[in-house]
Amino acid sequence: MPGAIHGVSASPGIVAGTAHLLRWEVPEVPSRVIEDAEIDAEIQRLRAAVDAAVERLRGVKTRAEENAGAAEAAIFDVQIAILQDAELRGRVESLVKQNLAAEKAFDLVMLEWREHFGRSANPMMRERVGDLVDVHIRLLSLLLNLPDHDPVGLEPGANAILVTHDLTPSLTIQLDRRAIAGIATDAGTRTSHVAILARSLGLPAVVGLIDATARIQSGDRVILDGTNGTLVPRPTTAVLAQFADRARREAAVQKELDALSGAEAVMSDGPRVTLRANVDLPDEAERAVERGAEGVGLMRTEFLVVGRAAMPSEEEQVEAYSDVVKAFKGQPVVIRTYDVGGDKLPIGGFPHEPNPFLGWRAIRMCLDEPELFKVQLRALLRAAVHGDLRIMLPLVVSVDEVRQARFLLQEAATELAKQGIAHRADVPLGVMIETPAAAMSADSFVGEVAFFSIGTNDLVQYTLAVDRGNASLVTRYTPLHPAVLRLIARTVDVAKQSGLEVSVCGEMASQPLMAYVLLGLGVRTLSVAAGGIPVLKRLVRGVSAAGAAAAAQAALAAGTPRDAEQVLRLSLARELGDELLDGLLGLA
Ligand code: PEP
Ligand code: MG
Repeated sequence: MPGAIHGVSASPGIVAGTAHLLRWEVPEVPSRVIEDAEIDAEIQRLRAAVDAAVERLRGVKTRAEENAGAAEAAIFDVQIAILQDAELRGRVESLVKQNLAAEKAFDLVMLEWREHFGRSANPMMRERVGDLVDVHIRLLSLLLNLPDHDPVGLEPGANAILVTHDLTPSLTIQLDRRAIAGIATDAGTRTSHVAILARSLGLPAVVGLIDATARIQSGDRVILDGTNGTLVPRPTTAVLAQFADRARREAAVQKELDALSGAEAVMSDGPRVTLRANVDLPDEAERAVERGAEGVGLMRTEFLVVGRAAMPSEEEQVEAYSDVVKAFKGQPVVIRTYDVGGDKLPIGGFPHEPNPFLGWRAIRMCLDEPELFKVQLRALLRAAVHGDLRIMLPLVVSVDEVRQARFLLQEAATELAKQGIAHRADVPLGVMIETPAAAMSADSFVGEVAFFSIGTNDLVQYTLAVDRGNASLVTRYTPLHPAVLRLIARTVDVAKQSGLEVSVCGEMASQPLMAYVLLGLGVRTLSVAAGGIPVLKRLVRGVSAAGAAAAAQAALAAGTPRDAEQVLRLSLARELGDELLDGLLGLA
Protein backbone atom coordinates (compact mmCIF):
# COMPACT_ATOMS: atom_id res chain seq x y z
CA MET A 1 0.00 0.00 0.00
CA PRO A 2 1.76 3.25 -1.06
CA GLY A 3 2.52 5.57 1.84
CA ALA A 4 1.44 3.03 4.47
CA ILE A 5 3.39 3.08 7.71
CA HIS A 6 4.11 -0.44 8.92
CA GLY A 7 4.05 -1.45 12.55
CA VAL A 8 2.95 -4.38 14.66
CA SER A 9 -0.61 -5.61 14.78
CA ALA A 10 -1.65 -5.15 18.39
CA SER A 11 -5.42 -5.44 18.30
CA PRO A 12 -7.43 -6.48 15.22
CA GLY A 13 -9.97 -4.47 13.25
CA ILE A 14 -9.92 -1.85 10.49
CA VAL A 15 -11.14 1.69 10.99
CA ALA A 16 -11.03 4.89 9.01
CA GLY A 17 -11.01 8.01 11.14
CA THR A 18 -9.43 11.36 11.89
CA ALA A 19 -5.96 11.40 13.40
CA HIS A 20 -5.61 13.01 16.80
CA LEU A 21 -1.95 13.57 17.49
CA LEU A 22 -1.09 13.39 21.11
CA ARG A 23 2.33 14.73 22.01
CA TRP A 24 2.69 14.37 25.72
CA GLU A 25 6.31 15.24 26.29
CA VAL A 26 8.13 18.15 27.88
CA PRO A 27 8.80 20.61 25.03
CA GLU A 28 12.15 22.23 24.31
CA VAL A 29 12.26 25.61 25.99
CA PRO A 30 14.30 28.33 24.26
CA SER A 31 16.40 30.51 26.56
CA ARG A 32 14.96 33.99 26.56
CA VAL A 33 15.70 36.96 28.79
CA ILE A 34 13.39 39.90 29.23
CA GLU A 35 13.94 43.61 29.89
CA ASP A 36 13.23 45.08 33.34
CA ALA A 37 10.29 46.94 31.85
CA GLU A 38 8.70 43.66 30.75
CA ILE A 39 8.78 41.94 34.15
CA ASP A 40 5.31 42.92 35.35
CA ALA A 41 3.66 41.90 32.10
CA GLU A 42 5.58 38.62 32.12
CA ILE A 43 4.33 37.82 35.62
CA GLN A 44 0.80 38.59 34.48
CA ARG A 45 1.31 36.26 31.49
CA LEU A 46 2.52 33.51 33.82
CA ARG A 47 -0.45 33.93 36.15
CA ALA A 48 -2.91 33.89 33.25
CA ALA A 49 -1.35 30.66 31.96
CA VAL A 50 -1.62 29.08 35.43
CA ASP A 51 -5.30 30.07 35.60
CA ALA A 52 -5.91 28.62 32.15
CA ALA A 53 -4.15 25.38 33.10
CA VAL A 54 -6.21 25.07 36.29
CA GLU A 55 -9.38 25.67 34.31
CA ARG A 56 -8.37 23.02 31.79
CA LEU A 57 -7.53 20.52 34.56
CA ARG A 58 -10.99 21.01 36.06
CA GLY A 59 -12.43 20.01 32.70
CA VAL A 60 -10.04 17.06 32.43
CA LYS A 61 -11.08 15.95 35.90
CA THR A 62 -14.77 16.01 35.04
CA ARG A 63 -14.15 13.89 31.95
CA ALA A 64 -11.91 11.45 33.81
CA GLU A 65 -14.63 11.08 36.46
CA GLU A 66 -17.06 10.05 33.73
CA ASN A 67 -14.59 7.70 32.02
CA ALA A 68 -12.76 6.14 34.91
CA GLY A 69 -14.46 7.11 38.18
CA ALA A 70 -13.95 9.59 40.98
CA ALA A 71 -11.02 7.82 42.63
CA GLU A 72 -8.95 7.81 39.42
CA ALA A 73 -9.89 11.41 38.67
CA ALA A 74 -8.60 12.60 42.05
CA ILE A 75 -5.14 12.71 40.54
CA PHE A 76 -6.11 15.94 38.80
CA ASP A 77 -6.84 17.63 42.14
CA VAL A 78 -3.23 16.92 43.02
CA GLN A 79 -2.08 18.59 39.80
CA ILE A 80 -4.28 21.63 40.43
CA ALA A 81 -2.81 21.90 43.93
CA ILE A 82 0.72 21.82 42.49
CA LEU A 83 -0.09 24.65 40.09
CA GLN A 84 -1.57 26.71 42.90
CA ASP A 85 1.27 26.02 45.32
CA ALA A 86 2.48 29.32 46.78
CA GLU A 87 6.09 28.19 47.10
CA LEU A 88 6.25 27.08 43.48
CA ARG A 89 4.69 30.30 42.29
CA GLY A 90 7.06 32.36 44.47
CA ARG A 91 10.14 30.58 43.10
CA VAL A 92 9.11 31.01 39.47
CA GLU A 93 8.15 34.65 39.89
CA SER A 94 11.43 35.43 41.62
CA LEU A 95 13.30 34.05 38.57
CA VAL A 96 11.12 36.17 36.27
CA LYS A 97 12.09 39.17 38.39
CA GLN A 98 15.69 38.21 37.57
CA ASN A 99 14.83 38.71 33.88
CA LEU A 100 14.08 35.12 32.85
CA ALA A 101 11.13 34.57 30.51
CA ALA A 102 8.20 32.84 32.27
CA GLU A 103 8.59 29.54 30.38
CA LYS A 104 12.30 29.30 31.14
CA ALA A 105 11.74 30.17 34.80
CA PHE A 106 8.98 27.59 35.15
CA ASP A 107 11.01 24.97 33.29
CA LEU A 108 14.01 25.42 35.61
CA VAL A 109 11.94 25.25 38.78
CA MET A 110 10.04 22.16 37.61
CA LEU A 111 13.27 20.36 36.72
CA GLU A 112 14.57 21.18 40.19
CA TRP A 113 11.38 19.97 41.89
CA ARG A 114 11.21 16.79 39.88
CA GLU A 115 14.78 15.99 40.81
CA HIS A 116 14.13 16.79 44.47
CA PHE A 117 10.88 14.78 44.69
CA GLY A 118 12.38 11.85 42.77
CA ARG A 119 15.23 11.52 45.25
CA SER A 120 13.05 11.78 48.32
CA ALA A 121 13.08 8.95 50.84
CA ASN A 122 9.37 9.52 51.34
CA PRO A 123 7.31 7.40 48.93
CA MET A 124 4.45 9.92 49.06
CA MET A 125 6.80 12.56 47.63
CA ARG A 126 8.14 10.20 44.98
CA GLU A 127 4.59 9.42 43.93
CA ARG A 128 4.17 13.04 42.93
CA VAL A 129 6.87 13.04 40.24
CA GLY A 130 4.46 11.90 37.54
CA ASP A 131 2.06 14.68 38.47
CA LEU A 132 4.89 17.19 38.29
CA VAL A 133 5.75 15.97 34.79
CA ASP A 134 2.12 16.33 33.68
CA VAL A 135 1.94 19.86 35.13
CA HIS A 136 5.29 20.71 33.56
CA ILE A 137 4.05 19.71 30.09
CA ARG A 138 0.66 21.36 30.47
CA LEU A 139 1.87 24.79 31.58
CA LEU A 140 4.78 24.95 29.13
CA SER A 141 2.43 24.10 26.26
CA LEU A 142 0.31 27.08 27.24
CA LEU A 143 3.23 29.47 27.75
CA LEU A 144 4.81 28.47 24.45
CA ASN A 145 1.49 28.55 22.58
CA LEU A 146 1.86 24.94 21.49
CA PRO A 147 -1.15 23.07 20.13
CA ASP A 148 -3.42 21.52 22.73
CA HIS A 149 -2.91 17.78 22.49
CA ASP A 150 -5.26 16.86 25.24
CA PRO A 151 -7.31 13.79 24.28
CA VAL A 152 -9.98 14.94 26.70
CA GLY A 153 -11.23 17.59 24.31
CA LEU A 154 -12.51 14.90 21.96
CA GLU A 155 -16.26 14.60 21.77
CA PRO A 156 -18.10 11.26 21.77
CA GLY A 157 -18.51 10.11 18.19
CA ALA A 158 -15.33 11.94 17.07
CA ASN A 159 -14.08 8.69 15.50
CA ALA A 160 -10.55 9.70 16.42
CA ILE A 161 -7.47 7.60 15.77
CA LEU A 162 -5.13 8.45 18.58
CA VAL A 163 -1.56 8.76 17.30
CA THR A 164 1.02 9.03 20.03
CA HIS A 165 4.53 8.00 20.97
CA ASP A 166 3.39 5.74 23.79
CA LEU A 167 0.27 5.60 25.87
CA THR A 168 1.08 6.30 29.50
CA PRO A 169 -1.25 5.29 32.33
CA SER A 170 -2.12 8.93 33.12
CA LEU A 171 -3.20 9.45 29.51
CA THR A 172 -5.08 6.19 29.39
CA ILE A 173 -7.50 7.09 32.15
CA GLN A 174 -8.42 10.29 30.34
CA LEU A 175 -9.49 8.51 27.18
CA ASP A 176 -13.13 8.52 26.32
CA ARG A 177 -13.81 5.27 24.53
CA ARG A 178 -16.85 6.79 22.85
CA ALA A 179 -14.56 9.27 21.08
CA ILE A 180 -11.66 7.01 20.14
CA ALA A 181 -11.89 4.48 17.34
CA GLY A 182 -8.31 3.22 17.31
CA ILE A 183 -4.82 3.65 18.70
CA ALA A 184 -1.48 4.00 16.89
CA THR A 185 1.81 4.30 18.74
CA ASP A 186 5.43 4.76 17.75
CA ALA A 187 6.61 2.51 20.58
CA GLY A 188 5.38 -0.82 21.85
CA THR A 189 4.97 -4.43 20.82
CA ARG A 190 2.18 -7.00 20.86
CA THR A 191 2.85 -7.78 24.50
CA SER A 192 3.40 -4.25 25.76
CA HIS A 193 0.67 -2.94 27.95
CA VAL A 194 -0.81 -0.48 25.49
CA ALA A 195 -1.47 -3.42 23.15
CA ILE A 196 -2.99 -5.52 25.91
CA LEU A 197 -5.20 -2.64 26.97
CA ALA A 198 -6.36 -1.98 23.40
CA ARG A 199 -7.34 -5.64 23.01
CA SER A 200 -9.20 -5.49 26.30
CA LEU A 201 -11.09 -2.45 25.13
CA GLY A 202 -11.73 -4.07 21.75
CA LEU A 203 -10.12 -1.07 20.01
CA PRO A 204 -8.08 -1.70 16.84
CA ALA A 205 -4.45 -0.84 17.48
CA VAL A 206 -1.11 -0.76 15.71
CA VAL A 207 2.04 -0.28 17.77
CA GLY A 208 5.76 -0.10 16.99
CA LEU A 209 5.21 2.40 14.15
CA ILE A 210 8.54 4.09 15.05
CA ASP A 211 7.82 7.57 13.62
CA ALA A 212 4.08 7.85 13.00
CA THR A 213 3.92 10.94 15.21
CA ALA A 214 6.36 12.66 12.84
CA ARG A 215 4.46 11.66 9.69
CA ILE A 216 0.87 12.30 10.73
CA GLN A 217 -0.80 15.57 11.64
CA SER A 218 -3.89 16.10 13.73
CA GLY A 219 -6.91 16.25 11.46
CA ASP A 220 -5.41 13.95 8.79
CA ARG A 221 -7.76 11.32 7.49
CA VAL A 222 -6.18 7.91 8.22
CA ILE A 223 -6.95 4.22 7.96
CA LEU A 224 -5.83 2.11 10.89
CA ASP A 225 -5.51 -1.55 10.03
CA GLY A 226 -5.06 -3.32 13.35
CA THR A 227 -5.31 -6.71 11.67
CA ASN A 228 -2.27 -6.23 9.45
CA GLY A 229 -0.44 -3.66 11.53
CA THR A 230 -0.48 -0.66 9.19
CA LEU A 231 -1.47 2.97 9.36
CA VAL A 232 -2.33 4.64 6.04
CA PRO A 233 -2.20 8.43 6.10
CA ARG A 234 -4.39 10.49 3.80
CA PRO A 235 -5.80 7.57 1.76
CA THR A 236 -7.20 8.06 -1.74
CA THR A 237 -10.86 7.31 -2.40
CA ALA A 238 -9.88 4.06 -4.12
CA VAL A 239 -7.85 2.93 -1.10
CA LEU A 240 -10.69 3.89 1.24
CA ALA A 241 -13.11 1.77 -0.79
CA GLN A 242 -10.70 -1.18 -0.74
CA PHE A 243 -10.42 -1.01 3.05
CA ALA A 244 -14.15 -0.61 3.50
CA ASP A 245 -14.60 -3.80 1.52
CA ARG A 246 -12.12 -5.67 3.73
CA ALA A 247 -13.70 -4.28 6.87
CA ARG A 248 -17.07 -5.63 5.65
CA ARG A 249 -15.59 -9.08 5.01
CA GLU A 250 -13.90 -9.16 8.41
CA ALA A 251 -17.10 -8.11 10.10
CA ALA A 252 -18.95 -10.94 8.33
CA VAL A 253 -16.42 -13.57 9.53
CA GLN A 254 -16.55 -12.07 13.00
CA LYS A 255 -20.34 -12.36 12.98
CA GLU A 256 -20.07 -16.03 12.08
CA LEU A 257 -17.63 -16.55 14.94
CA ASP A 258 -19.84 -14.65 17.37
CA ALA A 259 -22.62 -17.07 16.56
CA LEU A 260 -20.48 -19.74 18.23
CA SER A 261 -20.67 -18.01 21.60
CA GLY A 262 -23.06 -20.62 23.01
CA ALA A 263 -21.18 -23.58 21.48
CA GLU A 264 -18.73 -25.74 23.41
CA ALA A 265 -14.99 -25.60 22.76
CA VAL A 266 -14.50 -29.28 22.00
CA MET A 267 -11.68 -30.69 19.89
CA SER A 268 -12.69 -32.86 16.97
CA ASP A 269 -11.55 -36.06 18.73
CA GLY A 270 -13.20 -35.28 22.02
CA PRO A 271 -11.20 -33.30 24.59
CA ARG A 272 -12.94 -30.28 26.04
CA VAL A 273 -11.04 -26.99 26.29
CA THR A 274 -11.94 -24.25 28.77
CA LEU A 275 -11.76 -20.71 27.40
CA ARG A 276 -11.57 -17.95 29.94
CA ALA A 277 -11.15 -14.20 29.61
CA ASN A 278 -8.38 -11.86 30.62
CA VAL A 279 -9.94 -8.82 32.25
CA ASP A 280 -7.91 -5.65 32.72
CA LEU A 281 -10.75 -3.36 33.83
CA PRO A 282 -13.79 -4.50 35.83
CA ASP A 283 -16.28 -3.18 33.28
CA GLU A 284 -14.97 -5.62 30.67
CA ALA A 285 -16.50 -8.51 32.55
CA GLU A 286 -19.88 -8.14 30.89
CA ARG A 287 -18.40 -8.21 27.41
CA ALA A 288 -16.42 -11.31 28.33
CA VAL A 289 -19.59 -13.09 29.47
CA GLU A 290 -21.29 -12.16 26.18
CA ARG A 291 -18.37 -13.58 24.22
CA GLY A 292 -18.82 -16.92 25.93
CA ALA A 293 -15.97 -16.80 28.46
CA GLU A 294 -16.16 -19.57 31.03
CA GLY A 295 -14.79 -17.49 33.84
CA VAL A 296 -11.78 -15.21 34.14
CA GLY A 297 -8.31 -16.72 33.78
CA LEU A 298 -6.51 -13.50 34.64
CA MET A 299 -7.89 -10.36 36.17
CA ARG A 300 -5.12 -7.81 36.32
CA THR A 301 -5.50 -5.48 39.30
CA GLU A 302 -3.03 -2.83 38.25
CA PHE A 303 -5.87 -0.53 37.13
CA LEU A 304 -6.45 0.10 40.84
CA VAL A 305 -2.98 1.54 41.30
CA VAL A 306 -1.49 2.77 38.05
CA GLY A 307 -2.05 6.44 37.32
CA ARG A 308 -3.81 7.00 40.61
CA ALA A 309 -3.22 9.62 43.26
CA ALA A 310 -3.52 7.18 46.17
CA MET A 311 -3.75 3.46 46.89
CA PRO A 312 -7.31 2.14 46.67
CA SER A 313 -9.22 1.48 49.88
CA GLU A 314 -10.26 -2.02 50.94
CA GLU A 315 -13.92 -1.15 50.29
CA GLU A 316 -13.22 0.05 46.77
CA GLN A 317 -11.34 -3.16 46.03
CA VAL A 318 -14.07 -5.36 47.51
CA GLU A 319 -16.52 -3.69 45.16
CA ALA A 320 -14.31 -4.00 42.07
CA TYR A 321 -13.56 -7.70 42.64
CA SER A 322 -17.12 -8.56 43.70
CA ASP A 323 -18.56 -7.02 40.52
CA VAL A 324 -16.49 -9.35 38.35
CA VAL A 325 -17.10 -12.43 40.52
CA LYS A 326 -20.84 -11.78 40.46
CA ALA A 327 -20.86 -11.26 36.68
CA PHE A 328 -19.52 -14.80 36.26
CA LYS A 329 -22.12 -16.42 38.49
CA GLY A 330 -20.10 -19.15 40.15
CA GLN A 331 -17.56 -19.68 37.33
CA PRO A 332 -13.91 -19.35 38.36
CA VAL A 333 -12.49 -15.84 38.53
CA VAL A 334 -8.71 -15.79 38.94
CA ILE A 335 -7.57 -12.45 40.34
CA ARG A 336 -3.89 -11.63 40.27
CA THR A 337 -2.39 -9.63 43.10
CA TYR A 338 -0.68 -6.36 42.18
CA ASP A 339 1.84 -6.72 39.39
CA VAL A 340 3.10 -3.17 39.64
CA GLY A 341 6.62 -2.26 38.68
CA GLY A 342 8.40 -2.81 35.36
CA ASP A 343 6.48 -0.80 32.79
CA LYS A 344 3.39 -0.69 34.98
CA LEU A 345 4.56 1.76 37.61
CA PRO A 346 2.02 3.90 39.39
CA ILE A 347 2.92 7.43 38.52
CA GLY A 348 6.37 8.05 39.92
CA GLY A 349 5.50 5.78 42.83
CA PHE A 350 8.68 3.77 42.96
CA PRO A 351 12.32 4.63 42.97
CA HIS A 352 13.84 4.79 39.52
CA GLU A 353 15.56 1.50 38.79
CA PRO A 354 18.14 0.93 36.09
CA ASN A 355 16.55 -2.45 35.28
CA PRO A 356 12.88 -2.29 36.22
CA PHE A 357 11.91 -5.65 34.69
CA LEU A 358 14.46 -7.29 36.97
CA GLY A 359 13.59 -5.00 39.80
CA TRP A 360 11.35 -4.40 42.74
CA ARG A 361 8.01 -5.36 41.32
CA ALA A 362 4.98 -7.65 41.65
CA ILE A 363 5.21 -10.20 44.49
CA ARG A 364 8.56 -8.74 45.60
CA MET A 365 7.05 -5.32 46.25
CA CYS A 366 3.95 -6.85 47.88
CA LEU A 367 5.93 -9.00 50.31
CA ASP A 368 8.12 -6.04 51.26
CA GLU A 369 5.04 -3.88 51.89
CA PRO A 370 2.86 -6.30 53.86
CA GLU A 371 0.46 -3.66 55.13
CA LEU A 372 -0.32 -2.53 51.60
CA PHE A 373 -0.56 -6.15 50.39
CA LYS A 374 -2.83 -7.21 53.23
CA VAL A 375 -5.43 -4.64 52.25
CA GLN A 376 -5.65 -6.34 48.87
CA LEU A 377 -5.71 -9.84 50.37
CA ARG A 378 -8.49 -8.86 52.79
CA ALA A 379 -10.52 -7.42 49.92
CA LEU A 380 -10.04 -10.60 47.89
CA LEU A 381 -11.15 -12.85 50.77
CA ARG A 382 -14.21 -10.66 51.26
CA ALA A 383 -15.17 -10.62 47.57
CA ALA A 384 -14.78 -14.42 47.49
CA VAL A 385 -18.10 -14.88 49.29
CA HIS A 386 -19.83 -14.04 46.00
CA GLY A 387 -18.52 -16.95 43.94
CA ASP A 388 -15.45 -18.94 42.89
CA LEU A 389 -12.65 -16.39 43.38
CA ARG A 390 -9.07 -17.65 43.17
CA ILE A 391 -5.92 -15.69 43.99
CA MET A 392 -2.85 -15.73 41.76
CA LEU A 393 0.64 -14.45 42.56
CA PRO A 394 2.75 -12.85 39.79
CA LEU A 395 6.48 -13.09 39.07
CA VAL A 396 7.11 -15.84 41.55
CA VAL A 397 10.59 -17.38 41.41
CA SER A 398 10.61 -19.46 44.57
CA VAL A 399 8.22 -21.36 46.79
CA ASP A 400 9.35 -19.19 49.73
CA GLU A 401 7.39 -16.35 48.21
CA VAL A 402 4.25 -18.48 48.13
CA ARG A 403 4.73 -19.41 51.79
CA GLN A 404 5.13 -15.79 52.82
CA ALA A 405 2.07 -14.77 50.83
CA ARG A 406 0.06 -17.60 52.36
CA PHE A 407 1.13 -16.48 55.82
CA LEU A 408 -0.18 -12.98 55.09
CA LEU A 409 -3.35 -14.44 53.61
CA GLN A 410 -3.94 -16.41 56.79
CA GLU A 411 -3.29 -13.32 58.88
CA ALA A 412 -5.82 -11.41 56.78
CA ALA A 413 -8.40 -14.19 57.26
CA THR A 414 -7.81 -14.26 61.02
CA GLU A 415 -8.22 -10.49 61.26
CA LEU A 416 -11.45 -10.60 59.26
CA ALA A 417 -12.80 -13.43 61.44
CA LYS A 418 -11.97 -11.47 64.61
CA GLN A 419 -13.73 -8.43 63.22
CA GLY A 420 -16.75 -10.52 62.27
CA ILE A 421 -16.47 -9.51 58.59
CA ALA A 422 -17.90 -11.95 56.04
CA HIS A 423 -15.19 -13.66 53.99
CA ARG A 424 -13.97 -17.02 52.74
CA ALA A 425 -10.79 -18.40 54.24
CA ASP A 426 -10.42 -21.32 51.80
CA VAL A 427 -9.65 -19.35 48.64
CA PRO A 428 -7.38 -21.32 46.26
CA LEU A 429 -3.92 -19.78 45.85
CA GLY A 430 -2.02 -20.26 42.59
CA VAL A 431 1.06 -18.91 40.88
CA MET A 432 1.96 -17.49 37.52
CA ILE A 433 4.72 -19.42 35.86
CA GLU A 434 6.34 -16.54 34.05
CA THR A 435 10.00 -16.84 34.93
CA PRO A 436 12.39 -19.59 33.83
CA ALA A 437 13.09 -20.14 37.54
CA ALA A 438 9.45 -20.98 38.26
CA ALA A 439 9.14 -23.20 35.19
CA MET A 440 12.35 -25.10 35.92
CA SER A 441 11.34 -25.64 39.54
CA ALA A 442 7.62 -26.13 38.93
CA ASP A 443 7.77 -29.39 40.92
CA SER A 444 8.74 -27.47 44.07
CA PHE A 445 5.35 -25.71 44.04
CA VAL A 446 3.40 -28.96 44.10
CA GLY A 447 1.59 -29.30 47.39
CA GLU A 448 1.95 -25.57 48.00
CA VAL A 449 -0.35 -24.13 45.34
CA ALA A 450 -3.71 -24.96 43.80
CA PHE A 451 -2.93 -24.09 40.17
CA PHE A 452 -0.40 -22.83 37.65
CA SER A 453 -1.04 -20.21 35.02
CA ILE A 454 1.68 -19.76 32.45
CA GLY A 455 2.35 -16.07 31.70
CA THR A 456 4.07 -16.37 28.36
CA ASN A 457 4.51 -12.62 27.87
CA ASP A 458 7.08 -12.50 30.61
CA LEU A 459 8.26 -16.09 30.25
CA VAL A 460 9.39 -15.36 26.69
CA GLN A 461 11.07 -12.09 27.68
CA TYR A 462 12.97 -13.58 30.60
CA THR A 463 13.94 -16.78 28.79
CA LEU A 464 15.22 -15.06 25.67
CA ALA A 465 16.49 -11.91 27.42
CA VAL A 466 14.41 -9.85 24.97
CA ASP A 467 12.49 -6.84 26.29
CA ARG A 468 8.83 -7.49 25.49
CA GLY A 469 8.14 -3.79 25.00
CA ASN A 470 11.03 -2.92 22.69
CA ALA A 471 9.76 -2.30 19.15
CA SER A 472 13.19 -2.82 17.62
CA LEU A 473 13.43 -6.35 19.04
CA VAL A 474 10.10 -7.58 17.69
CA THR A 475 11.62 -10.19 15.38
CA ARG A 476 13.71 -11.56 18.24
CA TYR A 477 10.73 -12.02 20.56
CA THR A 478 9.91 -15.56 19.48
CA PRO A 479 7.51 -17.57 21.67
CA LEU A 480 8.15 -20.65 19.51
CA HIS A 481 11.82 -20.77 20.52
CA PRO A 482 12.66 -24.32 21.65
CA ALA A 483 13.70 -23.06 25.09
CA VAL A 484 10.28 -21.50 25.66
CA LEU A 485 8.41 -24.55 24.38
CA ARG A 486 10.46 -26.83 26.64
CA LEU A 487 9.75 -24.70 29.70
CA ILE A 488 6.04 -24.78 28.93
CA ALA A 489 6.11 -28.54 28.30
CA ARG A 490 7.91 -29.10 31.59
CA THR A 491 5.40 -27.01 33.53
CA VAL A 492 2.44 -28.77 31.92
CA ASP A 493 3.95 -32.20 32.66
CA VAL A 494 4.49 -31.35 36.33
CA ALA A 495 0.93 -30.06 36.61
CA LYS A 496 -0.55 -33.12 34.93
CA GLN A 497 1.44 -35.55 37.06
CA SER A 498 0.32 -33.86 40.23
CA GLY A 499 -3.26 -33.14 39.21
CA LEU A 500 -2.87 -29.35 39.28
CA GLU A 501 -4.82 -27.21 36.85
CA VAL A 502 -2.55 -25.47 34.36
CA SER A 503 -3.67 -22.70 32.06
CA VAL A 504 -1.98 -20.18 29.78
CA CYS A 505 -2.95 -16.53 30.16
CA GLY A 506 -0.21 -14.84 28.12
CA GLU A 507 -0.72 -13.53 24.59
CA MET A 508 0.56 -16.78 23.06
CA ALA A 509 -2.85 -18.21 23.85
CA SER A 510 -4.57 -15.71 21.54
CA GLN A 511 -2.60 -16.49 18.39
CA PRO A 512 -3.87 -19.53 16.47
CA LEU A 513 -0.50 -21.13 15.67
CA MET A 514 0.66 -20.75 19.22
CA ALA A 515 -2.62 -21.79 20.79
CA TYR A 516 -2.33 -24.92 18.66
CA VAL A 517 1.08 -25.78 20.07
CA LEU A 518 -0.20 -25.13 23.60
CA LEU A 519 -3.09 -27.55 23.01
CA GLY A 520 -0.57 -30.01 21.63
CA LEU A 521 1.55 -29.71 24.78
CA GLY A 522 -1.53 -30.68 26.79
CA VAL A 523 -2.90 -27.32 27.94
CA ARG A 524 -6.68 -27.50 28.23
CA THR A 525 -7.43 -24.06 29.70
CA LEU A 526 -6.63 -20.89 27.79
CA SER A 527 -7.31 -17.32 28.85
CA VAL A 528 -7.34 -14.44 26.35
CA ALA A 529 -8.86 -10.97 25.89
CA ALA A 530 -12.63 -11.35 25.47
CA GLY A 531 -12.49 -10.39 21.79
CA GLY A 532 -10.18 -13.32 21.06
CA ILE A 533 -12.46 -16.04 22.44
CA PRO A 534 -14.54 -16.68 19.28
CA VAL A 535 -11.41 -17.19 17.12
CA LEU A 536 -10.03 -19.58 19.68
CA LYS A 537 -13.27 -21.50 19.92
CA ARG A 538 -13.39 -21.95 16.16
CA LEU A 539 -9.78 -23.14 16.23
CA VAL A 540 -10.38 -25.65 19.01
CA ARG A 541 -13.45 -27.07 17.25
CA GLY A 542 -11.49 -27.54 14.04
CA VAL A 543 -8.45 -29.41 15.38
CA SER A 544 -7.79 -32.77 17.00
CA ALA A 545 -5.85 -33.42 20.19
CA ALA A 546 -3.90 -36.13 18.38
CA GLY A 547 -2.93 -33.81 15.51
CA ALA A 548 -1.99 -31.00 17.88
CA ALA A 549 0.11 -33.34 20.04
CA ALA A 550 2.04 -34.65 17.04
CA ALA A 551 2.61 -31.10 15.77
CA ALA A 552 3.77 -29.97 19.22
CA GLN A 553 6.29 -32.81 19.43
CA ALA A 554 7.63 -31.83 16.01
CA ALA A 555 7.79 -28.17 17.08
CA LEU A 556 9.68 -29.14 20.24
CA ALA A 557 12.17 -31.05 18.14
CA ALA A 558 12.60 -28.19 15.65
CA GLY A 559 15.84 -26.32 16.12
CA THR A 560 14.56 -22.80 15.53
CA PRO A 561 11.39 -20.76 16.03
CA ARG A 562 11.04 -20.48 12.27
CA ASP A 563 11.17 -24.27 11.80
CA ALA A 564 8.67 -24.73 14.63
CA GLU A 565 6.33 -22.23 13.02
CA GLN A 566 6.51 -24.00 9.70
CA VAL A 567 5.71 -27.38 11.24
CA LEU A 568 2.72 -25.94 13.09
CA ARG A 569 1.42 -24.04 10.10
CA LEU A 570 1.51 -27.11 7.88
CA SER A 571 -0.27 -29.27 10.43
CA LEU A 572 -2.85 -26.60 11.17
CA ALA A 573 -3.53 -26.02 7.47
CA ARG A 574 -4.12 -29.77 7.11
CA GLU A 575 -6.59 -29.76 9.98
CA LEU A 576 -8.45 -26.53 9.20
CA GLY A 577 -7.90 -25.91 5.50
CA ASP A 578 -6.00 -22.89 4.17
CA GLU A 579 -8.96 -20.60 3.89
CA LEU A 580 -10.18 -20.96 7.47
CA LEU A 581 -6.61 -20.80 8.78
CA ASP A 582 -6.00 -17.52 6.93
CA GLY A 583 -9.30 -16.15 8.19
CA LEU A 584 -8.47 -17.00 11.80
CA LEU A 585 -4.91 -15.68 11.53
CA GLY A 586 -6.30 -12.42 10.15
CA LEU A 587 -8.69 -11.96 13.03
CA ALA A 588 -6.38 -12.88 15.90
C1 PEP B 1 2.31 -12.59 31.18
O1 PEP B 1 3.39 -12.18 31.59
O2 PEP B 1 2.19 -13.43 30.28
C2 PEP B 1 1.05 -12.07 31.73
C3 PEP B 1 -0.10 -12.62 31.41
O3 PEP B 1 1.10 -11.01 32.55
P1 PEP B 1 1.37 -9.48 32.10
O4 PEP B 1 1.20 -9.41 30.61
O5 PEP B 1 0.37 -8.67 32.84
O6 PEP B 1 2.77 -9.27 32.55
MG1 MG C 1 3.55 -11.06 33.42
